[in-house]
Amino acid sequence: MTSAAHKGEAADVATDAATEIVVGGLTPLSTSDWPGMLAATVFCQGCAWNCPYCHNAALRPFGPGERTWPEVLAWLTTRPGLLDAVVFSGGEPLLQPGLAEAMRQVRGLGFEVGLHTSGMAPQALERVLPLCGWVGLDLKAPRRAYPRITGAPGSAEDAWASLDLLRESGIPFELRTTWHPALLPEDELLELAGEIAAAGTPLWALQAFQPEGCADASLATAGRARVDEALVARLRAALGAGQQLIIRN
Ligand code: SF4
Repeated sequence: MTSAAHKGEAADVATDAATEIVVGGLTPLSTSDWPGMLAATVFCQGCAWNCPYCHNAALRPFGPGERTWPEVLAWLTTRPGLLDAVVFSGGEPLLQPGLAEAMRQVRGLGFEVGLHTSGMAPQALERVLPLCGWVGLDLKAPRRAYPRITGAPGSAEDAWASLDLLRESGIPFELRTTWHPALLPEDELLELAGEIAAAGTPLWALQAFQPEGCADASLATAGRARVDEALVARLRAALGAGQQLIIRN
């Protein structure tokens, strides 16, 4: 299915409050999924893209989850005072018909709501943004290289439309790029830095590829990537004043 088709599908179903999200996994406590917050992370099942470096390969197929959303909600009722927030991650949360309702339920329990997304469904993002306190948005490549990474025609347009929505929303967000030199040569990573510089966004996190959970045998065998100091210096030079680059090696 093309990215454009999923965008329409997600927009159609994003208001379907009767449909529960499909939960592929749960991290009870994370200090990194929403930096600065004590969060539980709910991993939604299913994603329409096919990034070779995906470290959540088991979450890509659409299908049954490992537990039900009501079970997660019941558990969350035991967490006030122990958690600040719930982060919806994936897979791709924006393809879940019941995402907005799940977010409302989480807020109703007194928790903040965070979102990890690839930006593949900007219309769905627009619907849930008012419910979010923070968003981590993947930017995978410079525009021209996007379909090579995601396997999805139109993916660059969707991701950058999502970035535009975030910039207009005023909601705090972080851009994140997972990097492996076999998929994105340094010159293309620098090209992405230039596009981010032009967008003027304040925070970009560059995450070195990790083989854990990756289904691509050649990448998994190659092992961890590492962003070296020389590359960091070139990337920082490409960014504008006031733009922060965080390296997660
Ligand atoms: S968009 Fe995210 S979940 Fe989907 S395949 Fe790519 S890395 Fe994996």
